[in-house]
Amino acid sequence: MNLIRALRRAVASTLLALIPLAASADEQQVRVVASFSILGNMVEEVLGDFARVSTIVGPDADAHIYEPTVADAKAVAAADVIFVNGLGFETWSRTLITESGTRAAVHVVTEGIAPITVDGSIDPHAWNSLTNGATYVRNIARVMTSVMPEHAEAIEANAGAFIAELDALDAETRTRLAGLPADRRTVVTAHDAFGYLEAAYGLTFLAPQGIDTEGEPSARELAILIKQLRSEGASALFVENIASPALVRQISEETGIAIGGRLISDALSERGGPATSYLAMFRHNMTTLMGALQTPASPAERNEENGHVARQK
Ligand SMILES: [Zn+2]
Repeated sequence: MNLIRALRRAVASTLLALIPLAASADEQQVRVVASFSILGNMVEEVLGDFARVSTIVGPDADAHIYEPTVADAKAVAAADVIFVNGLGFETWSRTLITESGTRAAVHVVTEGIAPITVDGSIDPHAWNSLTNGATYVRNIARVMTSVMPEHAEAIEANAGAFIAELDALDAETRTRLAGLPADRRTVVTAHDAFGYLEAAYGLTFLAPQGIDTEGEPSARELAILIKQLRSEGASALFVENIASPALVRQISEETGIAIGGRLISDALSERGGPATSYLAMFRHNMTTLMGALQTPASPAERNEENGHVARQK
């Protein structure tokens, strides 16, 4: 055999050997499924490119009333690790996970968080306090360093950097809110998604719908809220990215209280929207809230704020 032919044969056999190796390496990449988009972003921040991360409930979608698809069942079946919020948020997750037949371990990221209750029910929206967000990140990092010990150092570094950003935003939020007068701290949203933000940062959120979006308020409940708003007032009303604005518009018409903007409650924005990450979501919500709660010095400034709420830092 001449040298050229021998080399060709060697190259060919090497290539043949590499093709199946490359395919199986891809198949062997750890697959992580997160139940909803806010959590999916946190997992991505911690893992970077070390795993394939997918999300069940996507952007601008309502996880309270989600109905899983066949594609979700396939993703869960193929998963190595599953992260859920817990605290009763994903009512559909237990059936989906059981029926998929997955062998993946299911981890609850709110482990270690002290839950608050609203009207006797546990409030699942724990991510709306940045201190809790840091606990989510720590829980994700703890699980993934044990699943992928070869990447433990980098995962720890990613988690540490992310928590430092959350801590800085938390301090900034407290500073911005400190100067707000007591009578400019009450707002109304469609559903009760901001209990942890209320507890952490000293605001009051009222909502015609409870901590989930399943039921509409009764006419009587709505009348009580409108009466309360007429007598005690509120600084602004807010619509949400996951809920119909109809209820909030009705309250605005009946009380004369203005709609101060749109808050991002239980899901990130679609690509190109104002909140495509957990940090961007929190910043957007604080900017929207502050835009409506800070009494503008002049009508011109009021117009400026109303026009540029989403772009303010
Ligand atoms: Zn919710």
